[in-house]
Amino acid sequence: MSIEPYIRDVPDFPKPGILFKDITPLLQSPEGLRRSIEGLTELVDPESYDLVVGIESRGFIFGTALAHHLDKGFVPIRKPGKLPWKTASESYELEYGKDTIEIHVDAFEPGPRALIVDDLLATGGTAEAALKLVRRVGGEPVACAFVIELSFLPGRQRLDVPVHALMKV
Ligand code: AMP
Repeated sequence: MSIEPYIRDVPDFPKPGILFKDITPLLQSPEGLRRSIEGLTELVDPESYDLVVGIESRGFIFGTALAHHLDKGFVPIRKPGKLPWKTASESYELEYGKDTIEIHVDAFEPGPRALIVDDLLATGGTAEAALKLVRRVGGEPVACAFVIELSFLPGRQRLDVPVHALMKV
């Protein structure tokens, strides 16, 4: 059930020196998409969480499909200024500069236990900020699940919940 054949490596995107992991071949293949959603289902016990939280924007694709597959709700974590209701926000350091993510303050009314989903774990800065944000609005993150983990980077060491990935490079 490997998803590896469906991940395309694109050198020097979006800037020189980055080997970008392109998930579009995975999405456009019915078999690849099925493997990724069924694989995410098996990574973390679905009984252990109430909601799936996805990080903009590729986390939305996998997170929503996973939530639908398991008959659970979905909560978006978005870039600043996109969510229309009351929000909490969290800023974090990037290699150059800062980034901010936001969540609605009433995101966990359906239940507090959250699985955080994104396409890729690199430095862990985005997921670490997502964990803080979820807790700030009353959520209880139970785990983080990624399609791909860049295991040559220490991203998972920054995350204080169990970390799972379908594919490690
Ligand atoms: P980080 O906060 O460093 O863990 O970066 C994670 C975010 O950046 C994810 O949302 C990824 O979509 C994106 N990202 C970082 N590095 C790559 C890469 N090599 N290929 C594809 N996406 C990446």
